[in-house]
Formats: sequence, structure tokens, C-alpha cells
Amino acid sequence: MTRRFTANRIKSNRNYTVADVSETLGVHFKTVRNWIRVGLPVIDANRPLLINGADLKIHLKQKRRATMFDCENHEMCCFRCKQPMKPILDSLLFIAKPAGMAHMTGACEECGTRMNKYVSWRDVNDIWKDLEGKLPIAEKHIVLRGQKLLNCPFSEVSSDEK
Ligand SMILES: [Zn+2]
Repeated sequence: MTRRFTANRIKSNRNYTVADVSETLGVHFKTVRNWIRVGLPVIDANRPLLINGADLKIHLKQKRRATMFDCENHEMCCFRCKQPMKPILDSLLFIAKPAGMAHMTGACEECGTRMNKYVSWRDVNDIWKDLEGKLPIAEKHIVLRGQKLLNCPFSEVSSDEK
């Protein structure tokens, strides 16, 4: 029996608790907690933790693709090119997520397909430099979601991070 997560059962416009996800996908709740630890975003720090359906879908797709090819930090998996590709710098956005993570999104430099992945804020500056270089990352490429998430993600990693 192959273990395949049916992302189709997840509704993008719904929020799920860990127990909901566990039940809907038929995975252990510890598995879901582990996904959160490795980058599945949660809505905020309040209990119970809520996971947005759209975020979960992205995470599941990313998991599946990650088994097909490994990306460098500054690359994302383009499912049209079927290989790790660099994003067009102008299209690149980092969207702040809880738990020190960022949703990296950008268009494939080859075919323009939108690519997504989750990265740690710690890596954002390096990713930026790997892609083009010298200049500091521009404000317009950063979107902070929620208020008091991160004041300045780049000068220092916030101290409450594990
Ligand atoms: Zn592509």
C-alpha cells in the first residue's frame, strides 16, 4: 500500500487543527506536528494551533515534489520544468510566517511558472545574495504577515527562536 496524501480532501478556505489534519489525511498527529516543525505554517501562536488549508496543500505538494528533486536554498522546484529553477528576482517575494519561517514565492526564470517553498528567515539574506548579490534585499520583496512577527528579520534572528 502506497502512502499518498490526498491533498484534495483539504479545503483551501478552511482552517484546520492538528487533530483535523490528522483525521482528514489519516496521519498521526505527531506527523502533523513534525510538519509544523519543518515549516508548515500555522495561523498564529494561539492554541489550538490552526493550519490554513491552502498552506497545507502547498506543504503537501512541496513534500511530494521534494522527493523528485532537491533544490538548493535559492532554487525552487518548478513543476513545469521538472527541475530546480531559479526565480526571476523581480518576481521574488518573501512572506513572513510564524515560527521564523518565510514563504518564498517567485516566477521560474525559464518558463514563468509560479514556484513556492518555505524557508527559514535566517536563510533569506543568503538566498537573496545567491540570486543576485551585493545590494541588501529591497523592502518591496518582503511582506510581513501579521503584526508583531519580526521587526527586522535581517539584522538578527529574533531571540525567541529555538
Ligand atoms: Zn519552469
